[in-house]
Amino acid sequence: MAFASSISSPSYSLTNLSSKPSKVLTSARKIHSFALVPRPSGPRVGYALQLQGMDLLNFNLFASVASADALLDEAVEKAQLPKGDGWSIHKFGGTCVGNSERIQNVANIIVKDESERKLVVVSAMSKVTDMMYDLIHKAQSRDDSYVIALDAVLEKHKSTAVDLLEGDDLSNFLDRLHQDINNLKAMLRAIYIAGHATESFSDFVVGHGELWSAELLSAVVRKSGLECNCMDTRDVLVVNPTSSNQVDPDYLESGRRLVKWYSQNSCDTIVATGFIASTPQDIPTTLKRDGSDFSAAIMGALFRARQVTIWTDVDGVYSADPRKVSEAVILKKLSYQEAWEMSYFGANVLHPRTIIPVMKYDIPIVIRNIFNLSAPGTMICRPAGLESEDGERVESPVKGFATIDNLALVNVEGTGMAGVPGTASAIFGAVKDVGANVIMISQRNLTDLLCRLVVSTLCVFAVPEMEVKAVAAALESRFRQALDAGRLSQIAVIPNCSILAAVGQKMASTPGVSATLFNALAKANINVRAIAQGCSEYNITVVVKREDCIRALRAVHSRFYLSRTTIAMGVIGPGLIGGTLLDQLRDQAAILKEKFNIDLRVMGITGARTMLLSDAGIDLSIWRDLQKEKGEKADLQRFVQNVHGNHFIPNTVIVDCTADSYVASHYHDWLRRGIHVVTPNKKANSGPLEQYLKLRTLQRQSYTHYFYEATVGAGLPIISTLQGLLETGDKILRIEGIFSGTLSYIFNNFVEARAFSEVVKEAKQAGYTEPDPRDDLSGTDVARKVIILARESGLKLELSDIPVKSLVPEPLKDSSSVEEFLQQLPRYDQDLAKQRQVAEASGEVLRYVGVVDVVKQKGTVELRRYKKEHPFAQLSGSDNIIAFSTQRYEKQPLIVRGPGAGAEVTAGGVFCDILRLASYLGAPS
Ligand code: ADP
Ligand code: ASP
Ligand code: MG
Repeated sequence: MAFASSISSPSYSLTNLSSKPSKVLTSARKIHSFALVPRPSGPRVGYALQLQGMDLLNFNLFASVASADALLDEAVEKAQLPKGDGWSIHKFGGTCVGNSERIQNVANIIVKDESERKLVVVSAMSKVTDMMYDLIHKAQSRDDSYVIALDAVLEKHKSTAVDLLEGDDLSNFLDRLHQDINNLKAMLRAIYIAGHATESFSDFVVGHGELWSAELLSAVVRKSGLECNCMDTRDVLVVNPTSSNQVDPDYLESGRRLVKWYSQNSCDTIVATGFIASTPQDIPTTLKRDGSDFSAAIMGALFRARQVTIWTDVDGVYSADPRKVSEAVILKKLSYQEAWEMSYFGANVLHPRTIIPVMKYDIPIVIRNIFNLSAPGTMICRPAGLESEDGERVESPVKGFATIDNLALVNVEGTGMAGVPGTASAIFGAVKDVGANVIMISQRNLTDLLCRLVVSTLCVFAVPEMEVKAVAAALESRFRQALDAGRLSQIAVIPNCSILAAVGQKMASTPGVSATLFNALAKANINVRAIAQGCSEYNITVVVKREDCIRALRAVHSRFYLSRTTIAMGVIGPGLIGGTLLDQLRDQAAILKEKFNIDLRVMGITGARTMLLSDAGIDLSIWRDLQKEKGEKADLQRFVQNVHGNHFIPNTVIVDCTADSYVASHYHDWLRRGIHVVTPNKKANSGPLEQYLKLRTLQRQSYTHYFYEATVGAGLPIISTLQGLLETGDKILRIEGIFSGTLSYIFNNFVEARAFSEVVKEAKQAGYTEPDPRDDLSGTDVARKVIILARESGLKLELSDIPVKSLVPEPLKDSSSVEEFLQQLPRYDQDLAKQRQVAEASGEVLRYVGVVDVVKQKGTVELRRYKKEHPFAQLSGSDNIIAFSTQRYEKQPLIVRGPGAGAEVTAGGVFCDILRLASYLGAPS
């Protein structure tokens, strides 16, 4: 055959990077003779990512550890290796060695590590394993672009080496690299001609990524001054293939080989290849995708190391995949079992089999972030160590969630075979025959629960989507007779499913976990297709449609992990008050979260023209910049949808900081939808009576809150004081007060010989008035406050029922400009000067007040005279003062006094309401 001669060419002297080249030559030869025997039948080797799950039916974590153990002991004892605590194992994932800078960084960490002895397992540079699989895929598909792709692999390693090494180190590495690439080129050519690659061929090819990165890293470590040997783990690790597309380490043989290797290469620092190993026949093989974690754990057990540290690109194991759930939190500690369950169900931060070798020896695994050395990482160890933790927040019974996509459910349905002995074993026997992985078996199917009389489901289980065709065909053939006879109605396949698993050792002993989980799913409108509780009781798994999976994950995660008082906020009107509120929130957020477990997330800010939306919460330290950079056209409906509808934060509040009646007209609808409303905007409560009553009725009937303390007296506790009096059964007789900071200032300073117009001008200059002082002097604002308090006290009044004494002289009402008004105002000073004189003559002062006369059921806004000793006469600045005369406080009214205007205090009042809401929602006091 044409390719046979090229394959047997002597140019296949493959390089062994760690020891004598002849050893690898041997395995290379074996590959040739082994791999080129065409497989008579059966599927081609698949190169797509395979699920790393185990066959649940056969899996027994503890049993396999126990048997491996005895063998391991024997091997290690005999060898008299310097085993034990002196050894630390480190494993660096692909991203840790993604480029020359990162490789140098890893070398620095190794050099700095103070362990007596260390073994460093290294993955291929990031993406390289994918590139290698792609080479094979291309070659066997007879796509000759594999040649260019191989050049890219060469180039990547060459340029990295040039960056890192020099002199002999560099030329040695490059010689080996070129030799390997030449060999690979020839092998890929053979695959190209054959149109097929055996598994051993492809394992041999893909393993080069690890060989190169290990060689590079060890050279850099040596260059940094630390003696270091490089281990090609194909010389040491021996593994046997299993039926479920996994490999089982042969600890005894591996131990023996390690002894031998060590006797020839003993060194206190060893850099070893991850991922690759040999079969007992010395054929190169791999530990399957992501297998370097497993390599590190096997090494940990062989050396009886103190610890295995797995370095990666995240701070540790999160409560859910951080790419899918931005709220995910780092888990400080996990038990071996929990870590296994998390990784089995898809948390690819750890290869599931990593746990097995280290567990028996109680060797802890620590997952750490190479890009964030200050993060302590996640410790995976025995549960005893977990319980001794004190001072930690009470843990959620669910530790974490994980998901597996691309699954299909197989539903074996029929009434005629229920209870027939051997049915289940026949079903799973057929599945096993096609080599499929059963990821989960459901104890009960939900449709069965609902339609028990109509359909009887014999068995429901999930398999990888790519295996389902073969499974369905095998079942159909196995049960042909039963199907034809109607004893089985059908083998139904539900494609596009995902598994969502909740994992936690404490779940088994905590009541209500499943109820909470299903409740969260129901609230998020997720249809659950099947459920299962793991045999270990450490997991609950549900099968959902693929498209619902992330939503389901976020819904359950937020239910267990967000504090109950996480509140999604939307702020309307980021002007003076709204802007100040956002700044106050920014300054206080961390303390609220830490001390009171209140997590306030601003999911949207909208003005009249632009709005800023976020999925996880706006960074309030830069909200103004973000608004400029990322602001989009304001749209109130979309804004509300984003704040309320797009996430799984349990509570939503809209904070209306405008003075707009259009915005206020939405409160009813928002409250009806379960959105809490907090506002300093007076428009809703002083608007048409009918709408006000409707709003209040809804508020009373629902458990949704509407707070508006800052509508009267800014941050002063006026509404809450009034409500407190009413709710405790006091009878309000009269409320009288100076409700306008502006008018308070003006009359406090309208003394001696000063002219009224002069004081108004001064107030304007000091920023105490509205841009047009007539808005203050007209008294409408005070009238709105009067109506709010009147209604709160039970009076059914409209704004038009309140007589208002306006201080704007009639002829100046229509002055075209503020300037003109201020210019004309002195002409009318006379009138007020006279009134002041009369008052002074009888030892009194003038004050502009609002009055709610509950007895007479009316309200007024007027200029009244008060004795100089009266509390209203004692004010300074722009203070408000409000006196409540009630049945309990009849002789001496209850008085609230203080600054009642200004952005800081008004925003503070709104903030108070938000916190009141949080405490109503369960925040600690
Ligand atoms: P490495 O190349 O270092 O082995 P991997 O990509 O295999 O890294 O694993 C780390 C990745 O695992 C993280 O970047 C993260 O996106 C993903 N991941 C999935 N689930 C989790 C989880 N629960 N906690 C942490 N990381 C997770
Ligand atoms: N390089 C191999 C892979 O990408 C092994 C590993 O990184 O764990 O699958
Ligand atoms: Mg990994």
